[in-house]
Amino acid sequence: MKVRIAVLTRDCFHSSVVCPNKVSRIPGGPQYCPSQSVECPSIVSRSVWGAREPNGTTVMTTPVEYVIVHHTATGNCSSTDSCSRILRDIQKYHMDERNGRFSDIGYSFLVGGDGKVYEGRGWNKQGAHTKNYNDKGIGIAFIGNFQSELLKCTKESNAAQELITCGAEMGMVKWDYKLLGHQQTKATECPGKALFDIIKTSPRWVLNP
Ligand SMILES: [Zn+2]
Repeated sequence: MKVRIAVLTRDCFHSSVVCPNKVSRIPGGPQYCPSQSVECPSIVSRSVWGAREPNGTTVMTTPVEYVIVHHTATGNCSSTDSCSRILRDIQKYHMDERNGRFSDIGYSFLVGGDGKVYEGRGWNKQGAHTKNYNDKGIGIAFIGNFQSELLKCTKESNAAQELITCGAEMGMVKWDYKLLGHQQTKATECPGKALFDIIKTSPRWVLNP
């Protein structure tokens, strides 16, 4: 019998919402503040980062069961300007250049090295990020390459967790969602070793999707 022991020594992928009495809806689930309104990170909208209009959209049924984490395998960024430039490049690559063009930037959301969340396709429009999971999960991509870069528990992972908790509170993500790294669904380095190591510390991470 295999036993997986979760050793949670760091505050990665755990809610960083500040309130005195956090509760969870399920054991080990995301925590939220029962007495406060929904705590959502501010999301940099498509118009702010200069997104093009999608060529089409498919509405996805919510709440979704999966949250799949990616890295963009690009350079990193530390300001709204530099992150926005990378997002526009990724959108152009996804829509115009890659084999099998996408109708829009593939990811649901992206997180920059500035600790901000950027709107991709959003909560309820089907993405193009994880084969076989696009109609039942959101894809969150961290901007950068975390196979080659180190990533500690940081503002980026906290921002991602706040986003997920916000999505659960809004009914977009199931409270007992399953957290995955892209490499659990296909042969890829994504989301990179450093980021995958962080994801695996989350109580919502599952070994077998
Ligand atoms: Zn990926």
